[in-house]
Amino acid sequence: MQTFSCIRCGKERIRSTSWKEKIGTSKITYTMLICPDADCQKIVESKLKERKDYIETIQANSLKRRENLRRNRRPRKKVH
Ligand SMILES: [Zn+2]
Repeated sequence: MQTFSCIRCGKERIRSTSWKEKIGTSKITYTMLICPDADCQKIVESKLKERKDYIETIQANSLKRRENLRRNRRPRKKVH
């Protein structure tokens, strides 16, 4: 099994919870790994959340841009 060290302090992360989820025909085990240092874990979590928001913003923007491109590529010209 792979071990993960904390991205912030480098301590080996401990298993917090694990659960199984069925996706289609395969079962996947999810394991939540947290830093043994509670304060450090809080900081890491808030950083991850920031990043997630940031990634979601980028994705939303690129989606919008793609929609605009599609609209611009096919300009509807009405000929009367
Ligand atoms: Zn840590």
